[in-house]
Amino acid sequence: MTKTVDLRSDTVTQPTPAMRAAMAAAPLGDDVFGDDPSVNALQAKIAALLGFEAALFVPSGTQSNLCAVLSHCQRGDEYIVGQQAHCYRWEGGGAAVLGSVQPQPISHQSDGSLALTDIEAAIKPDDPHFARTRLLALENTLGGKLLPLDYVQAATTLAHSRGLACHLDGARLFNAATAQAAQTGNGEPGGDPFAQARRIARCFDSVSVCFSKGLGAPVGSALCGSAELIARARRIRKMAGGAMRQAGMLAAAASWALDHHVARLAQDHALAQRLADALQGIPELRVEPPQTNILFVDLAEVAKSRGDALIAHLKAHGVLATGLYRLRFVTHLDVDQAGIDRAAVAVRQFFSR
Ligand SMILES: *Cc1c(COP(=O)(O)O)cnc(C)c1O
Repeated sequence: MTKTVDLRSDTVTQPTPAMRAAMAAAPLGDDVFGDDPSVNALQAKIAALLGFEAALFVPSGTQSNLCAVLSHCQRGDEYIVGQQAHCYRWEGGGAAVLGSVQPQPISHQSDGSLALTDIEAAIKPDDPHFARTRLLALENTLGGKLLPLDYVQAATTLAHSRGLACHLDGARLFNAATAQAAQTGNGEPGGDPFAQARRIARCFDSVSVCFSKGLGAPVGSALCGSAELIARARRIRKMAGGAMRQAGMLAAAASWALDHHVARLAQDHALAQRLADALQGIPELRVEPPQTNILFVDLAEVAKSRGDALIAHLKAHGVLATGLYRLRFVTHLDVDQAGIDRAAVAVRQFFSR
């Protein structure tokens, strides 16, 4: 039995043997007392890597974004956010439910950005009719798309000039940084994903990163910001039930991932591109060129009714993907070139019947 090629998400990765060894060896303490050396080391490491004063280890990206929005905003405030953004659309409305913070969603442009004119128009005047606009939340990558750095700089400069704070949902920040590092030239510093991650992070007052996506850790995210912001976030994490005890085993996995799994993200991007190339020329498919590790493939009108059958066919051939009209294939450290080639063959086989 060949191994299943699981392209549903980069969250499905298993910790590697070396990561498990690092977890088993991690020194532990009670993190609610601030005593866990592995959690403290991870927080210091990610804060320094991204150029922030402080960081907070949290169980999930959802909780990280919640802590961020509720640390920046008070009850009756609002945050400007994209319609497709995770922290608006995919987190159960947590900021509104738990924080009485109203989202002001706006539509994305085709490259995933929010138009500067739309951001500007969404900022409310100081008037009792309106919620107080306090925060701009961006996401990078968004649906696997890299937001152009000059756009990120312009949007955050605009927000700051209007007195808003800026939060980045950088669940896949290191994928963004890897793609940005690949676009070297123009005398810009390139090559190093950590340097690129810092260039992106510098635009924001807070950044959330996930260790459990492409970085391959089993659990956890970090919220980075000023010491003052992180102190507020710590209170919200407690309230949300996210303060953990001997969490160092999880932090050690995240720390291992930062040391060993960032440089390899370029391979995931190359495999997404390989799959895109292999699916070119199938008349029933519209392949969207991938920028990072997420490949979207739309079914053409004639094939729209066959999405379920295609997913089932792939599953029967040991390939897992998600979608109905718009298929999603996500590469990660448990997928290799042979797996990608098998996935491509299985898709071709379906349409050649
Ligand atoms: C996965 C994801 C999150 C949430 O992470 P969880 O750990 O699943 O809660 C937040 N934002 C983005 C962009 C994500 O992809």
